[in-house]
Amino acid sequence: MEPLDVLAIAAHPDDVEQTCGGTLIRMAEMGYRTGVLDLTAGDMGTRGTPEERVAESKAAGRHMLLRWRDNLRMPDARLENCLPARMTLAMKIRETRPRVVILPYWQARHPDHYRASEMGYEACFLAGLKKLDPYSEPHRPFKILYASVYADVKPSFVVDIGAQFERRMSALLSYSSQYGATGEGAGLFPREAEIRERLGAIARFYGNLIGVRYGEPFVVKEAMEIGDIVAMPVRSI
Ligand SMILES: [Zn+2]
Repeated sequence: MEPLDVLAIAAHPDDVEQTCGGTLIRMAEMGYRTGVLDLTAGDMGTRGTPEERVAESKAAGRHMLLRWRDNLRMPDARLENCLPARMTLAMKIRETRPRVVILPYWQARHPDHYRASEMGYEACFLAGLKKLDPYSEPHRPFKILYASVYADVKPSFVVDIGAQFERRMSALLSYSSQYGATGEGAGLFPREAEIRERLGAIARFYGNLIGVRYGEPFVVKEAMEIGDIVAMPVRSI
């Protein structure tokens, strides 16, 4: 396959729609090839079967203009950072050859989220080892970004998703087994208006940090390079 420019790796279907979906849409609109790899199909979720979740994630992927989406069907709610799992992930990185990888932030309440982050990081390293596997070409992504929307940390940068917010909402609402108002467990799950208000408030909060309406935050471990300090965006306070 033709290499991806951006690959987002996440623990559950519907994670990327909440953490970096606007950025993926924006990059696709700019002409970049974007993809998502979900590690589990949400088989421990109260509502919906794994097959439904995967089908919904494909529909969400069309809203997000993805070129590629796959699901590794690893065990939900008990994701293990073991060698076979890392190897599977590394082989997917070799197959898709992304320049940029987006991972969940490395600290989180849900164990799957921080394990997905750790596994993604280690798989990016493994994928670059020539002798890992004789039948595929080594590939190490150039850049790793951590989607930090649910982490209580100051972002390294924020992407303006004002023009992508509605498309991202449509993507998230594709998960009708999770966000529908009826059926089993209806009392536990927020309705569409509440989801819209909650995600709007979160995106508004991060947008406000850079003086725009809606934003998605990211952390990078290395320093950012600036060539022109006169043209730097975001007004100081
Ligand atoms: Zn999740």
